[in-house]
Amino acid sequence: MKKKLIIANWKLNGNKKTIKKKINKLLKSKINTKKCTLSIAPPMIYLHLTTNLINKNTNISLTSQNIDKHITGSFTGEISGKMLKDVNVKYVIIGHSERKKYHLENNKIIYQKIKTCLNTKLIPILCIGENKIEYEKNKSINICKNQIKYSIPIKEIKKTNKIIIAYEPIWAIGTGISANINHINNVYNFIKNYVQTKYLHKIKKIKIIYGGSVNIQNIYELINNTNIDGFLIGSSSLITEEFIKIINIITNKK
Ligand code: PEP
Repeated sequence: MKKKLIIANWKLNGNKKTIKKKINKLLKSKINTKKCTLSIAPPMIYLHLTTNLINKNTNISLTSQNIDKHITGSFTGEISGKMLKDVNVKYVIIGHSERKKYHLENNKIIYQKIKTCLNTKLIPILCIGENKIEYEKNKSINICKNQIKYSIPIKEIKKTNKIIIAYEPIWAIGTGISANINHINNVYNFIKNYVQTKYLHKIKKIKIIYGGSVNIQNIYELINNTNIDGFLIGSSSLITEEFIKIINIITNKK
């Protein structure tokens, strides 16, 4: 089986002590980091601490939860792509629904942030997904299509660039209710065809992952009944024992 990408999104949780504890538990556990691509997204102030903690374990990488579109200058409170590279960040989550909701990010900002990522050789994880009303009105595919279309800077991309698309139905995030397998497969197949025809001649690799209440109860079903390239995991990645079990289920799949 192809290696799955597993991203732990810790959001606004933790402190130095709990982050050290979590990382040490992960490093001491028997997870097979060679059979997956594992990346941790701690709160940004702890990226440096996390990079130091995982330093010798080259099989775990770092993800940033955000990036500024600027590279340097008078932009108080922001963090640039160059700074993220400086502390060994590999991936950047962009356009998460929580940033859209609480920080008013829109497709234009997301487009610029992806552009910055590509220019600084960071791999963007573009989050897309419909809300509950759009889901109930059968608009998921159209919403996802437009989010991809207006967020990926097609003219800027080079053949060497990699992009990850995280399909995250907003109504499934943090609710404990994952989207059902048929729905995920429908959207996944659409996105795959869409990006293949529109972008694959330009980009080296596009992976499509799923996020939205992935947990110990549903991971087995998700891994066995979808072709998804990986998972973006919020709540369940905060409970290290549960996260380890989820990783084991994913890496044990034949
Ligand atoms: C997320 O916030 O990206 C996410 C997938 O969260 P959760 O796993 O808690 O639904």
